[in-house]
This record gives sequence, structure tokens and C-alpha cells, in this order.
Amino acid sequence: MFLKKGIQNRDVHRLQEKLNALGFNAGSADGIFGPCTERAVMAFQTDRGLSIDGIVGNETWNTLFGEPLPVFIESLGGPPPYSQCFDIFSDFRLAGWQEQNLVRCDLSAYEDELKHLYFSWMTPEDKAFVHHNWFGFICHTLVVPRFQAAFGKLAERGLSKTLKTFDGCFNPRNMRGSDNWSTHSWAIAIDLDAPWNRFGQTSFQMSEQIAQCFEEEGFIWGGRWHLRPDAMHFQYCSAR
Ligand SMILES: [Zn+2]
Repeated sequence: MFLKKGIQNRDVHRLQEKLNALGFNAGSADGIFGPCTERAVMAFQTDRGLSIDGIVGNETWNTLFGEPLPVFIESLGGPPPYSQCFDIFSDFRLAGWQEQNLVRCDLSAYEDELKHLYFSWMTPEDKAFVHHNWFGFICHTLVVPRFQAAFGKLAERGLSKTLKTFDGCFNPRNMRGSDNWSTHSWAIAIDLDAPWNRFGQTSFQMSEQIAQCFEEEGFIWGGRWHLRPDAMHFQYCSAR
């Protein structure tokens, strides 16, 4: 997570107040990261011998406040209930949300075990995790360590070889058959082997062993939803 030009939230407000208090003119503390704030950040970075990019990542934030950039998933102590998703993962409908919250979930450590997976709606040649110069998928910055650990377990236990398709993570949309937002809207959910584990399908193929790799990391498996199972689906959020 980082703060940069175009982002608008309460952390930017804190940043501006701090810069102003230290004598770096960030303009009025309106919570909007504009050109004036950017110039103040660069002046601060120059003054403290940091890399000068006008972007507030962990290093710059830490130098300013003596603490890491908020919020990190470790502080949550587990998956939050659905009702807290807008608070914790922020509002995906806001301008700048994607830039501030979506990052690469790097899975290159497990490339050999995962590179055979492909999007079910693409040809096998369009490998799901293979990109120009990196391997993985895009998800919410707060759940990166959990996804990496779950895929690590899939690989170590030889289970990833039994999977065929990766069917997506970030996708702002409603839940099927509901007005509520899907957890895919925050990029905190993933679908696997969708063609064999359709929504509502009670005789699905997703195995308990695969589900355990995610459940051990705090994910909720849709295969345990009795009324309308969603066995392709794993989310870092404790209620539908
Ligand atoms: Zn899903």
C-alpha cells in the first residue's frame, strides 16, 4: 500500500498535517494528494536522504511517523466479517482505489507447480499466471501474504497439479442471485476449477485437501455453504 498523487483518503490528510507541521508546505490538509503535496513529499524525501519519487511507501511513511503504513492484515487477526469489508478493504467504487489497493500477488516461487493453470474462458495458451515479466495475479494488498501462503501449501503438498483452471480474483460485481457486492469486488476472493465446481452445484469436484490449504490461512471456502455451495470460491472474509 502506498500514497501518491490522485489518492484521496484520511491517511493523505494525516500526511499533509504532518508535512505542514514539519515545515514542508503540503498546502491545505484536505485529504487530496495533489501536486502541492507531491512537492512537499519530494522535499521531505530530499531532506531525509530517501529515494525521491514523490510516492509515500513504507519507508517514507515510517520516517515521518515511526510506524508502518496502515492497515496490514496481520493486525486483523483473521478474516473480517462481510459487514466490515468496506471499512477494512476500502470502497472499490472510489477513484484511485485500484491504484492504492491492488497489487501483484507474486507466485514465481511456485511457477513450476502453477504454470499449467489457465483461465477456463481463454485458450490454454493464455496462461493465467504468466505475464510479460512476472508470474502471479492481481489482488488486494492486504491479502497477498495469505494467498501466497495458501498457494505455497498447494505446491508443497503436490495438490496444485490436480487443479486445471484459475478463474479470476478481482471482479467488481454483485454476488450471484443477490444485490450484495461479491467479495471479488475487493479482490479478496479467488475462483479455481470453475467448470467442475459451478455455483449451486452440490456434487462438486473440489477436494477437501485443496480447501484445507486455503482454510488453514483463514480463507472461507464456498464449498461449505450448504444452501448454495460455491466450491470454486475462496474468500478472505468470514461471512457471505
Ligand atoms: Zn468466486
